[in-house]
Amino acid sequence: MLVLQQPDQAITRGCVLVPTMGALHAGHAALIRQARTLADARGCPVVATIFVNPTQFNESTDFDAYPRTLDADLTLCDQAGADAVLAPTPAVVYPQGDPTPVPTLPAVATEPGLEDAFRPGHFAGVCQVVARLFDMTRPAAAVFGEKDWQQLQVIRAMTAEQRRPIEIIPAPTVREPDGLAMSSRNTRLDPGARRQAAGIAVALNAAATQPTPAHAESTLRKTLIAHAIQPEYAAVRDAETLLTPSGGPCRLLLAARVGTVRLIDNAPWNPVNS
Ligand code: AMP
Repeated sequence: MLVLQQPDQAITRGCVLVPTMGALHAGHAALIRQARTLADARGCPVVATIFVNPTQFNESTDFDAYPRTLDADLTLCDQAGADAVLAPTPAVVYPQGDPTPVPTLPAVATEPGLEDAFRPGHFAGVCQVVARLFDMTRPAAAVFGEKDWQQLQVIRAMTAEQRRPIEIIPAPTVREPDGLAMSSRNTRLDPGARRQAAGIAVALNAAATQPTPAHAESTLRKTLIAHAIQPEYAAVRDAETLLTPSGGPCRLLLAARVGTVRLIDNAPWNPVNS
């Protein structure tokens, strides 16, 4: 496996790209394996990127505390089937004197009142870095996890609005045995908070079978609170626009601080009576 610090389109053009911020776990490995299967069918390489993007953190303490485990990450990428990893420094991604534009944000990055409201500036940073990584690597396809559901919709919308010839491929959320979605942030949960965090999956499962959005939202909140988790938001939304449900597929979405760690999760909501 090649490790690149500078972009090299002779290697990456036409690849299946897996952008990450490192601190990789089994969820990221599943994305790379999914990319590998796709790339084998297409006869193209798999390229992962590892870059902790400063512009998408709305709290500098969160950026500083973000785990950095490059050696272990490279081993995981290799074992999961990546052909190359691009691990650039901030100066390579954001060269001085060459300001990286923040692209026009799609509506799903500003209107839902979910991550956009609770992490102001976050999606501007995400769109900025993803557009930059796409320009640096020129992939044919890119894999993003359903774990970050609003991010997935934002990147789909941005890619379409910018008319980039890049297929955005969703990957299912990988969970711990008790249902907690794997996240690089989970390592920061103390044992008590880790036990509490299992309540998030319990809440999503309980809400998934409720007959109306109002019942589902109320079940989400009650179940979280029963696990001593105070949600930032807990909502049922149209799965694509993340606005009020309007007859199409819907998604349960929530964010909560458990101990000092902010966690997000989501799951499908398919009304039993529809
Ligand atoms: P991150 O480096 O954690 O920001 O995420 C890099 C990619 O991995 C994003 O597309 C995430 O949605 C995805 N991802 C993170 N956690 C998981 C998980 N538990 N299951 C599947 N994909 C994930």
